[in-house]
Amino acid sequence: QAITHGDLDCEIETAYPDSLLGKVKIMQQKLKENDRLKSEFVSTVSHELRTPLTAIGGALSLAVGGQLGTMPGSALKLLDIAQKNTARLTELINDLLDIDKLSIGKLELNMSVQPLMPIIDDACLSMTSYAQKYGVHILIGPRFEYTLVNVDARRLRQVLVNFLSNAAKFSHKGDEIVINASVHADKVRIEVVDHGQGIPEEFQDKIFEKFSQVDSSDSRAAGGTGLGLAIAKELIQQMNGTIGFTSAEGVGSCFYVELPLEEANSD
Ligand code: ADP
Repeated sequence: QAITHGDLDCEIETAYPDSLLGKVKIMQQKLKENDRLKSEFVSTVSHELRTPLTAIGGALSLAVGGQLGTMPGSALKLLDIAQKNTARLTELINDLLDIDKLSIGKLELNMSVQPLMPIIDDACLSMTSYAQKYGVHILIGPRFEYTLVNVDARRLRQVLVNFLSNAAKFSHKGDEIVINASVHADKVRIEVVDHGQGIPEEFQDKIFEKFSQVDSSDSRAAGGTGLGLAIAKELIQQMNGTIGFTSAEGVGSCFYVELPLEEANSD
């Protein structure tokens, strides 16, 4: 019988005879201890990496901003590469810290009741230059100005930005991406629809796993860590919502979250 980590506590009581129970419980403790050590390691290393990386990023910005005088185009090109890779490393480290905190239940959400639309607007606004880079247009569907949700706004925006950036990355130039809110009884659904390359069927059940990317070389070229959706799933579950998607290869994808509506609204 496979020992699945999360359900271990309740599973072992029923699955093992008394003679084995003691040993299994010791194994369980060892696994938990391993988890704790792994998490401590990831967290320490990530924090240690973040500090020098912030300094590198700062120094590069000063150089690009002209603090060293006028630079030849070739030097600016190299600085641009260094800046982009610093940003990628920072993104990876932040993702690693998030996923680690989420997996040990240490990521605290800052929940409050607030209107949904400004969160959607903010997410789209922060995607402006990214959308330009990929030559896609982001459209916002019908507005539900009076709809309230109880969420961590920064984290919900992070999830929507993750959906939108994936939609942009895997769309074709000139495509439209639509972000739509809709109200269904006691829930609000927010979906991001693209008509891009879609996700192959055989990959679909792995999509929310850590570091999963359909094509790691492709995604590496486009950036990304393969952690975004794993983080998004944990965050939305902690906000008492659900996350999901439908996708067909060559047709496009629709990623959505559903959140409880906070109160009756007049939209
Ligand atoms: P990444 O940082 O690589 O984008 P994610 O966890 O956000 O990590 O996504 C994991 C993988 O899922 C992506 O690398 C891509 O292969 C696939 N994927 C996610 N969203 C889409 C989409 N809208 N269209 C096609 N593939 C997608």
